[in-house]
Amino acid sequence: MVAWPPDWQQRLIDALTRAGADRPCPRCGHDDFQLMDGYFSLAVQARLGDGPVASIPTVATVCDRCGFLSQHVVNVLLATDIDDAPGGGPAAGSSAGPGSSAGSGELAS
Ligand SMILES: [Zn+2]
Repeated sequence: MVAWPPDWQQRLIDALTRAGADRPCPRCGHDDFQLMDGYFSLAVQARLGDGPVASIPTVATVCDRCGFLSQHVVNVLLATDIDDAPGGGPAAGSSAGPGSSAGSGELAS
């Protein structure tokens, strides 16, 4: 099982809080979430019939009551901390297109 380094879980929680991503569950309204250990990877396909051409690394939270899973793109959430991330550095930013453009903050609205 993957486990975050001791200080890293708190850094992620701090980043979520700074971003305002600490509101109640959008499905059931419950207040408590768990931060999942480890990164998740969303596959990016250029065409439906082809395999993945890139991936977007995310971290995920799960609602303690209903299990609603939400994901946050690492390159956006941790834009200032990305080089310090466990397993971070240049390889973590290797995802093409969407991950790179998301880093510009264009997703904020
Ligand atoms: Zn919920």
